[in-house]
Amino acid sequence: MSETEKLYEGKAKILYATADPAILLTVYKDDATAFNAQKRGQIRGKGEINCQITAALFKWLSSKDIATHYIDSPEPNQMRVKALTIVPIEVVIRNIAAGSLCRQTGLPTGQILPSPLVEYYYKSDELGDPLLTRDRIFLLNLVTPQRLAEIEDLARKINQNLQSFFAECKITLVDFKLEFGIDAQGNLLLADEISPDTCRLWDQEKSDPRSRVMDKDRFRQDLGQVESAYQEVQRRVLEQLEQ
Ligand code: C5P
Repeated sequence: MSETEKLYEGKAKILYATADPAILLTVYKDDATAFNAQKRGQIRGKGEINCQITAALFKWLSSKDIATHYIDSPEPNQMRVKALTIVPIEVVIRNIAAGSLCRQTGLPTGQILPSPLVEYYYKSDELGDPLLTRDRIFLLNLVTPQRLAEIEDLARKINQNLQSFFAECKITLVDFKLEFGIDAQGNLLLADEISPDTCRLWDQEKSDPRSRVMDKDRFRQDLGQVESAYQEVQRRVLEQLEQ
């Protein structure tokens, strides 16, 4: 796949223009960062694994009537996607308390939430992706109230689908981050990625709180065996989709 101009290089992916302005090429990298890029490293094979998990889940979600920007995957670490105007909001959906929710509220890690919590963060590396309130979203004109309602409904629907899917893989979907974009016709589409970099995934076959972690927390917390955890997620996801 021949790429043309580099449009943007993020922490985990590079975005290229293609000959068709309606199509972009995303190249997934092995680079890993945490704590707003204060911790840096590499996870061998991560680019291919995350690209393939995302491709598989996006294809599966579209079979559930959830529109995504995914077109195809010309190479294992590359994805062709529809060019969208990205909504500058990171949407985090939480089913179980972990990470920043516990740090900021004192809730114990592992507490099952009474209903999924949807949170919004400002997509701004410069500001460190701060937590947003609805009023701040409208103050900054990030989206209209109607669009925010649509984003919340879609995020909840994606969560319901993914929670059931991962449960079939014997994995608990603790929390995850989504990004959305708007196409030329004004349709809201799921964008970015869904992978062990952007989800907390706990192995239901293990009870030990350190051994059960199958996601980027293994890198964040120096738990070791990061590659093998990502590979195991990929294996279970692809195996489940073959059934
Ligand atoms: O750090 P925090 O607990 O708020 O993260 C919630 C979820 O969102 C985690 O699954 C994390 O991997 C994901 N996330 C992400 N990108 C960010 C922030 C959080 O993928 N910039």
